[in-house]
Amino acid sequence: MSDAPHRLWIDNEWVDAEDGATFPTTNPATHELITEVAEARAADVDRAVESGKAAMAGKAWGRMSAHKRAHLLSRLADAIEANADELAGLETADNGKPYFESRKVDLPTVVETFRYFAGMADKIEGDTIPVSGPFLNYTLREPVGVVGIITPWNFPLNLASWKIAPALATGNAVVHKPAEQTPLTALRLGELAAEVGFPEGALNVVPGFGQTAGSALVKHPGVGAIAFTGSTEVGKTVMREAADNLTKVSLELGGKSPNVIFADADLKGAVRGAGTGIFYGKGEVCAAGSRILVERAIYDDFLEQFAARAEGMTVGDPMDSGTRLGAIVSEEQLERVMGYVEAGKAEGARLVTGGERTTVDGAGNFVTATVFADVEPDMTIAQEEIFGPVAAVIPFDDMDHAIQIANDTIYGLAAGVWTRDVGKAHRMAAEIQAGTVWVNTYNQYDSASPFGGYKQSGFGRDLGWQSALEKYTQTKSVWVALDR
Ligand code: NAD
Ligand code: MG
Repeated sequence: MSDAPHRLWIDNEWVDAEDGATFPTTNPATHELITEVAEARAADVDRAVESGKAAMAGKAWGRMSAHKRAHLLSRLADAIEANADELAGLETADNGKPYFESRKVDLPTVVETFRYFAGMADKIEGDTIPVSGPFLNYTLREPVGVVGIITPWNFPLNLASWKIAPALATGNAVVHKPAEQTPLTALRLGELAAEVGFPEGALNVVPGFGQTAGSALVKHPGVGAIAFTGSTEVGKTVMREAADNLTKVSLELGGKSPNVIFADADLKGAVRGAGTGIFYGKGEVCAAGSRILVERAIYDDFLEQFAARAEGMTVGDPMDSGTRLGAIVSEEQLERVMGYVEAGKAEGARLVTGGERTTVDGAGNFVTATVFADVEPDMTIAQEEIFGPVAAVIPFDDMDHAIQIANDTIYGLAAGVWTRDVGKAHRMAAEIQAGTVWVNTYNQYDSASPFGGYKQSGFGRDLGWQSALEKYTQTKSVWVALDR
């Protein structure tokens, strides 16, 4: 990056925080300091929102043609692609995830997301409505103005792109507050946007902490909508704080997703899918298949194969291509995960494998892939989101029993179903209360397919152009008298 220490990105410039505050971001695999980052507080957020408002009011962004906006988004996709090695390196250093995940999964997804929404930017149309009387009535789809975007640390650039790309495509200005653990790729994205031609104020980036920068953004009267991804607990605070200005909110929150494996499933595929479901991304995945429901007839076979798969999840240096489990994002998160391992043991679940804290070359926040069996649906490890590589395996008797356990949660983000019976698959898809259901697969995403939660996993959808219209535009109805 061009500047050190990394500063706030406002009005296409690097600026210091008004009070000069900074905070460190560290590499969780080595515990080394990567860099100090300027820390935004309320005054800085205010400056960023004012910059966004000026962009909306100005010609350069507020009156830019839709074709030009589409072109800029597409150029930004190209720039991200051209800088993918660097961005993936920053992501892995900041987050601890294996480099191959950053480079081969996250970055291509980010590029695709910008391309998809670039394609949408010049296809946003209103309607003409057949009203009674001598009137022409039509609708305009207008941007909401300045969109405040708050994102977590698990897929920093990827989840940011799910919101930034559609918000810009629909003509809004963005103020992005990335997670304090992983601010670096967001800052680089701001810089790249300016390099490809986004005018001042279209995309501002204000790293900082939740209760200061995040809360200031949510409460800011100049913000038209808040798009938040994070924990259910913070989501509730965001909704409460947004209420004062009746700011529109969308919330992508936590999960405790069931991955349901029937006796008639292709067992090998199901074991692989269950592994991907809970161990990909160190289990720091909102849609992680953290409750694995297994029909009794195959329960023992499944457990044996699944434990072997867990033991094959190599813990290691995230930069090594053989590493499958990188470093847990922070010391605090590692302690949370270990606390849940202890709770599982204390409540009587059977620890089959893993559950150990470890280091690589004497440092880092690592934990081995963990499998608990004989988990009761009401145990803490079956109810609370752990956000780590910890699987809770629960036996079930039949389909109704599976449905009952699957839905016995405050969450409703995603679910998996493994069966060769097409009727059973569709019935499960209908019965499970979740925003996404995967059948004989897990963790599939596409920029064209909506993603988001039922119940306390939130509301509003990321991805897909219809969701983007709902979240980032407002409808104006225009009446024109034809008889005078
Ligand atoms: P978090 O809720 O602690 O933080 C998320 C973001 O909110 C961070 O940028 C943080 O600084 C900010 N924040 C914290 N307090 C705030 C406040 N009072 N006001 C405004 N902003 C505030 O979550 P996390 O620990 O970073 O991320 C993990 C959580 O995110 C998990 O619960 C996970 O399930 C969820 N998540 C959900 C999705 C989804 O799409 N549904 C995707 C990824 C992660
Ligand atoms: Mg970090």
